Amino acid sequence: MTERVADLHLHTTYSDGTDSPERIVELAEEHGISTIAISDHDNVEAYAIAEPLARQKGIELLHGIEMSASYEDIEVHILGYFYDPKHPAFVDHITTQQKRRVSRMREMVERLQKVGVKIDAEEVLKLAGNGTVGRPHVARVLMKHGYISKMSEAFTKYIGPKNPGFVTGSPTLPDTIISVIRNAGGIPVLAHPMYVKRDEIIDMMVEQGLAGLEVYHSNHTPALIKHYKKIAKRLNLLMTGGSDYHGKSKEGVPIGSVKIPYDLVDALRAWKPNG
Ligand code: AMP
Ligand code: ZN
Ligand code: FE
Ligand code: FE
Repeated sequence: MTERVADLHLHTTYSDGTDSPERIVELAEEHGISTIAISDHDNVEAYAIAEPLARQKGIELLHGIEMSASYEDIEVHILGYFYDPKHPAFVDHITTQQKRRVSRMREMVERLQKVGVKIDAEEVLKLAGNGTVGRPHVARVLMKHGYISKMSEAFTKYIGPKNPGFVTGSPTLPDTIISVIRNAGGIPVLAHPMYVKRDEIIDMMVEQGLAGLEVYHSNHTPALIKHYKKIAKRLNLLMTGGSDYHGKSKEGVPIGSVKIPYDLVDALRAWKPNG
């Protein structure tokens, strides 16, 4: 039997990715990935759509999600695994965040219009369709109308921090997100810690109940992987990883760019909230 490997960070059209949940399952199979978690932003709907095909193909599908928080102007993304997707407070949280994302997107578009960027919020909403709207949808509309020539340009010129169209992602504090995930029986994991930069924030979040660190990520160099492995060991954290694949929304990050060994999935499964 071939070695089992996992990718626990994937986005679909239910948030800002460009592939359907079914296509993600096909891609996992094509790339020899045995276990996946779809971790859409503030959305869990892809699971039910992908599940029948995953079962048919023998791909193991885990519940995943990515939620946004902020701490002192730093954007903090927290992944959740093994939660109960029907837990009422969890459902309430993501429903509120989905609505907030729509009003935030409208505010971004208004700010852009004030600096002469002629795009329309309804077009962005239409592009997001059934999925949670996010900045990559705004970026794709900017691209369509010729304001940028690659997706990353949107984040340096228009909607990144300090740009005219920027609006904070979520004012929620990390400890709130950690509690939402834990109360739903889930495992909170800090996503792509390199973006948090200040490692002392990881220590703070562990005090608040953070249980894991995304050591392996498509933007982590071997040196960073080593660095975060050391932190995970010191703080007794679970280690996870994934590509953060977004399809055409994020250039240069193919599925299969990160594959983690299956014993890390076993460790996640064996995790107990109080021990
Ligand atoms: P949002 O959740 O609406 O704040 O959007 C965050 C998403 O934007 C991330 O998950 C990435 O998909 C994308 N993103 C953030 N920064 C960049 C960047 N510099 N280049 C390309 N995509 C980015
Ligand atoms: Zn994203
Ligand atoms: Fe993220
Ligand atoms: Fe992500």
